[in-house]
Amino acid sequence: MEMEMIMPAYYDSNIYVINKKIIIDTGMTADHVLPSLEKIVPLENIELIILTHTHYDHSGCAGAILEKSGAKLSIHEADAPFLSDDNLSGALNFGSRAACPFPDIVYSGGERIPIGRNSDGEDEYLEVIHTPGHTVGCICLYERNSKTLFSGDTVFSEGGIGRSDFKISAPEKMTDSIDKLTKLDIENLCPGHGRPTVGDANASIALSKMMSERLNP
Ligand SMILES: [Zn+2]
Ligand SMILES: [Zn+2]
Repeated sequence: MEMEMIMPAYYDSNIYVINKKIIIDTGMTADHVLPSLEKIVPLENIELIILTHTHYDHSGCAGAILEKSGAKLSIHEADAPFLSDDNLSGALNFGSRAACPFPDIVYSGGERIPIGRNSDGEDEYLEVIHTPGHTVGCICLYERNSKTLFSGDTVFSEGGIGRSDFKISAPEKMTDSIDKLTKLDIENLCPGHGRPTVGDANASIALSKMMSERLNP
């Protein structure tokens, strides 16, 4: 898997570009995100946008990217209805309106999204893991060959966890969701905000689980 990260502006989420054709989260500051993306890949080459969850700081630029690329938009089915909701998407908190179209693809968890082949000719996938907590439809995406986890706002580096006090949160499910992540072998943790962890991210996930047990008993 080839991966590039776009550094966020303001409150944008991190944006990850996979194999120069798939984008994980979009940020929300179009006049920063679109030129940054174009330095990595011509927009018309983008085939798929995967949103880790509905929040505007992750989904705000999806509409602008879709318009210029013809890509498909995907998200977990439980978060899909909130994409166009000014309030529940969090758009109003950033002084904006939600303008995200309804997704082309919805996940329920367990899907394997093909992303191409590695240098040994093996097929590679992003595995969709449903991790409700921060929102009811949060997902993490796991790439098994490189042991990389894209964790959205479920867990962050150094044992951080996402807030679970939004109207569309499921705090009672957060610890079980993070527990699912502890079953994976994770080398690289690519969270929705802050620095990625490179090399043995399992310790960070274990810390996140302890944190969640404390905050969401
Ligand atoms: Zn976020
Ligand atoms: Zn969020």
